[in-house]
Amino acid sequence: MKLSAQDKQRYHRQIILPSWGEGTQALLKDSCVFVAGAGGLGSPVALYLAAAGVGILRICDSGEVELSNLNRQILHTENRIDENKANSAKKTLKGTNPTIQVVPLTETITSDNLASLVGEARLMIDCLDNFQTRYILNQHAVKTGLPFVHAGVNGLCGQIAFIHPPETACLACLVSEAPPSEIFPILGATAGLLGCLEALEALKYLTGTGELLKGRLLFCDGETMQFQEVSFAKDPACRVCGSAESG
Ligand SMILES: [Zn+2]
Repeated sequence: MKLSAQDKQRYHRQIILPSWGEGTQALLKDSCVFVAGAGGLGSPVALYLAAAGVGILRICDSGEVELSNLNRQILHTENRIDENKANSAKKTLKGTNPTIQVVPLTETITSDNLASLVGEARLMIDCLDNFQTRYILNQHAVKTGLPFVHAGVNGLCGQIAFIHPPETACLACLVSEAPPSEIFPILGATAGLLGCLEALEALKYLTGTGELLKGRLLFCDGETMQFQEVSFAKDPACRVCGSAESG
């Protein structure tokens, strides 16, 4: 899709990036992304993708806004308590950028409905808070070849990787068993940091620029401000992508 005069103005400061230009911006305008979760990670992810001009955001969350979300879930506001988070997200994002399309999805993600929730999206972004649902995204990625950006946060720490099987290992190669679900402490700025990194990975993937975190897990420790990268490989015995299963 061609850029309008307004687009050229709105996105001017990124169009002048040496690796970008109007053609790259037009690629974003034609892109559709699936954002799984409109919470602490989903808030900065969706806000930055909307601001950058990703054409269609399919944002999925079945939960309602609660007062205890507001320390980190900056898509939502106090007057939207009890409102569905995907619907609340759409209101905020349309304020940020009314020229993009936001599709709110209020269902709970299951292995049966994920394909229809993802729709035409070229990329999934894991903004979830539990591994059970992450594994559903991962299964879909292994089955279809659709990549996803994984991130997780806890306290002042977080991790992020770009998962694109079969080129890279899958999430189950990296974390084979789901850690127990629990209410964990989290500071909004930590979710903001990891969410911004996820948005950056997404924008690079969609525009074909930069170098992705493929096969690389980046740990961010906000307490000591240390960032560490660990490479990870496919596990031949992986229960999801392992050679035993795929033949
Ligand atoms: Zn695997």
